[in-house]
Amino acid sequence: MSNPLPTATILGYPRIGENRELKRALESYWADRSSADDLRTAAAQVRRTTRQRLTALGLDAEAAAIPSDFAYYDQVLTTAIQVGAVPARFGIEPSDAPLSLDEEFRLARGDADTPPLELTKWFDTNYHYLVPEISPQTPLRHIPGAAAVSELREALAEGVLTRPVLVGPVTLLLLSKPENPGDPAPLERLDDLVAVYAAWLAELAAAGATWVQLDEPALVADTWDVPAEQVTAAAEQAYRRLAGATDRPSLLVAAPYGELRENFAALTGTGVEAIGIDLVHGALPADLDAAATADVTVVAGVVDGHNVWRTDLDRATALLQQVRERAGQVSVGTATSLLHVPHTTAVEDGLSDQLRSWLAFAHEKVTEVRTLARGLAGEDVSVELSAARAALADRAQADGVSRTQVRDRVAAVTPEDTHRADYTDRVEAQRALGLPDLPTTTIGSFPQTTELRQARARLRTGELTQAEYEQVIRDEIARVIALQEELGLDVLVHGEPERNDMVQYFAEHLDGFAVTQHGWVQSYGSRCTRPSLLWGDVSRPAPITPAWSGYAASLTDKPVKGMLTGPVTILAWSFVRDDLPVPEVAQQVALALRDEIADLEAAGIRVVQVDEPALRELLPLRREDHRAYVDWSVGAFRLATGGAAADTQVHTHLCYSEFGEVIDAINGLDADVTSIEAARSAMEVVPELAAAKFSRGLGPGVYDIHSPRVPSTEEIAGLLRLADGALARGQLWVNPDCGLKTRGYEETVAALTNLVAAARQVRAEH
Ligand code: GLN
Ligand code: ZN
Repeated sequence: MSNPLPTATILGYPRIGENRELKRALESYWADRSSADDLRTAAAQVRRTTRQRLTALGLDAEAAAIPSDFAYYDQVLTTAIQVGAVPARFGIEPSDAPLSLDEEFRLARGDADTPPLELTKWFDTNYHYLVPEISPQTPLRHIPGAAAVSELREALAEGVLTRPVLVGPVTLLLLSKPENPGDPAPLERLDDLVAVYAAWLAELAAAGATWVQLDEPALVADTWDVPAEQVTAAAEQAYRRLAGATDRPSLLVAAPYGELRENFAALTGTGVEAIGIDLVHGALPADLDAAATADVTVVAGVVDGHNVWRTDLDRATALLQQVRERAGQVSVGTATSLLHVPHTTAVEDGLSDQLRSWLAFAHEKVTEVRTLARGLAGEDVSVELSAARAALADRAQADGVSRTQVRDRVAAVTPEDTHRADYTDRVEAQRALGLPDLPTTTIGSFPQTTELRQARARLRTGELTQAEYEQVIRDEIARVIALQEELGLDVLVHGEPERNDMVQYFAEHLDGFAVTQHGWVQSYGSRCTRPSLLWGDVSRPAPITPAWSGYAASLTDKPVKGMLTGPVTILAWSFVRDDLPVPEVAQQVALALRDEIADLEAAGIRVVQVDEPALRELLPLRREDHRAYVDWSVGAFRLATGGAAADTQVHTHLCYSEFGEVIDAINGLDADVTSIEAARSAMEVVPELAAAKFSRGLGPGVYDIHSPRVPSTEEIAGLLRLADGALARGQLWVNPDCGLKTRGYEETVAALTNLVAAARQVRAEH
């Protein structure tokens, strides 16, 4: 190839802006406080700053080392609309012009009459993408002048030759769903879609692109509806065709998040110039030598784009040397896009210098990539290597990283610790709760009012004392308890007013965690989360929630449910240490929660809910790994809850309704009551669970809390009858889909009034 790939590159970079500029610009535009031009200007500024930053950090600005991967909302949506994949329900006439911003946002967010594209998890990350809808009639076509091309031109005008990044055709189709139920699988449109990409690549080449990156993470997973061989065949077919064209840029096919395995050899035979492999989440491909024969450059992803720890540069160097020996040409890269990590540790002055020295966020990771590439080229990087070595050594022996007490306790865990009394005995013991048939409850949080948020802000600035703040929280709890009594709910909650976030709250109260001040990571659209850092052995210095739950219980004769976040969710939504096996970290967290449950019981709490909304999120991308995952994740939940007395009713809550792959796990949790999301899918999951012999309490959500809409009593009663018919008498619980913290009080009260009325109606029919 005439243009070799630079020796240092990254697969992608955070798009939201160092100070979340894009988030602000988007939300201000959506709220009608600024114009489309303002938004475009802000976005262009974010892109410019990124290019300048990456150039300053040493990526080659003239040779396509800098990825051009901007998206206003989501990269899957950005790619889909550039190939014409716009469902008919949006009423957008197919034309040769790119979609307007408003049209793009309508696909992402819907409007009063049109539901948006479905939002779902991106591989095993906490990023969410929009699911494209592709059917035989979808007018797939090349749309000249779309974002990838205009953003390339924008960069060239500033003297930077970027590498446009698109979601590859195979991944785009595998992530898509048919526009109408019953339509054939989107993968059937592969030929049509590849023709569109070919035209697109020609346009990019004409505009000056020398390299284009096509992201194909689907090639590292085998959980698709089609067999693995068919995925491999699709990739071969697509890339032979794309590589066979003459008027095109060089192609880098990137396969982040796992092991490419046999798809590596398949890709090397297609004629693409470079393949990006993830060497953090996978081993070297067996057929690595095929790259040498086929003259393919391997972009060795040795720097983790999905976690925040400083790279072991010695280990990475050794790995790179192996790749070079076997594959011939190697570039140093990140394992995944850096989208999943915050921008820089430099601004985290709330963290100790010691902890900060163990971390590498996006900027620092680019520097690591550069250092490794320089070292590989024979430059003297001994100073950098020894600094990395020193940080790692410091981390290994630092206080709190390994604590004998915690390790001993985990080592002493026995299988009995994860077993409660038989379910039938528990049901008997829990009759003491005095619950009616079809008991009503909520998922935990009540609306987070402006007063609460302001009180937290004032506590931070010192305007409120701790005692004053706690009084605000107590008043809120009293209000929420009174409201629930008035509404006639059966199992009450304290409303979680003391929590900013269901994971960070626990991270702030457990040893072994730290929280960042600016470590925002995009979750979807303008939504960002600030994952906590789990850096050391985890333990609980003091009880966390019993005072709040106990106070709530003192205000009512009804049972009050204690609320905890489960071990798997705490791990899934944090940056977890990489120096201890995750199952062991999960056990540490579980033991801390186990103590918390014992203290809740001691405070008189007889119902405890342990939320695991992220249980499905960490499910491995290869089926062969599912078993081990279910074992440790379910094991951690059961270790957390296994000490609960028979007469303590253990609830769990999961935030989704597609259970196919985790149904055994849900059964395995052995919770007395499980609440799930079900309103939008009209209870679809209930018969599925019944068929899987799920025999314990089940609360399929009857109120979709993602929208301000208030369901009527009749509608809720209808859903309850549907679920009731599929379940045994005594199994059905009545609750919303999820917590109410994002809702307003007015709609909450209206919806819960109807929910209680509907439960009474159906109860009367029994
Ligand atoms: N108990 C939490 C709440 O009600 C559950 C949130 C969740 O499932 N994401 O807010
Ligand atoms: Zn939920």
